[in-house]
Amino acid sequence: MLSKTAIVTGASRGIGRQTAKELAIKGYNVCINYNSSKNEAEDLKNELISYGCNVDVFKADVSIRKEVDDMIDYSLRKFRSIDVVVNNAGICEYKLFTDVTENDLRKMFDTTILGTFNVTQSALKKYMLRNHSGNIINITSMWGVVGASCETNYSTMKSGIIGLTKALAKELGPSNIRVNAIAPGIIDTDMNNNLNREELSEFVSNIPIGRIGNVEDVAQLVCFLASDLSSYITGQVINTNGGYIV
Ligand code: NAP
Repeated sequence: MLSKTAIVTGASRGIGRQTAKELAIKGYNVCINYNSSKNEAEDLKNELISYGCNVDVFKADVSIRKEVDDMIDYSLRKFRSIDVVVNNAGICEYKLFTDVTENDLRKMFDTTILGTFNVTQSALKKYMLRNHSGNIINITSMWGVVGASCETNYSTMKSGIIGLTKALAKELGPSNIRVNAIAPGIIDTDMNNNLNREELSEFVSNIPIGRIGNVEDVAQLVCFLASDLSSYITGQVINTNGGYIV
């Protein structure tokens, strides 16, 4: 049994939920972070406990530093270490650039950039730097790599996550802490509920692998990056998009 601990933000639904599940089944202690989907998070906790996993839930809005600090303190008290942080919590927005308001921009910034900043800095200061070890995995998006029309707000912040990942990997390498990002393509989660059947099949027709992604495609990559199998990989942005962008 591993005695490592992972914190997965936005683990109540979608990619984060599957990531928390796979890490817990692999033997990590897992802190399942949620913000508004309490029932979903509790259901996941109960399911994983029934498999014999060591997990707990913690409600924190990642954009609020006090709530994040409380989550990190709680995890340390409960699990004794924080070895892996998965910055997954995210929101999306489809708007013409000319319709994006300052408030829209701030909300996207708060969840994406400030959220990643808060969780990462808190884990570093409260444990990882002192322990001279750690692993940070940021979930960005292919739109942060190539940009998406009508998603300038989202693309801007996801691109920022790539910059943060690369810079922080350089800063933290000497402290034995790796930092990587995953850039998923279209993944089958609530986030894409707004796409109708025609739009989805238009996407699929441009994906060489011939399907949209599923949450396992991302969660398994997180597990690889969290493990020592990837010990020489840092500062990288790994695309998982079925070949949609190459
Ligand atoms: P999802 O199904 O909509 O789930 C989003 C998760 O983020 C939920 O668990 C939600 O928690 C959490 N969250 C949102 N705001 C939060 C906050 N302020 N504090 C804490 N948690 C918060 O989305 P998903 O598709 O799994 O997306 C997960 C990540 O992958 C996001 O960063 C997204 O940008 C990225 N991504 C997704 C796709 C895709 O096609 N689905 C593609 C590329 C990248 P509550 O419900 O508890 O509030």
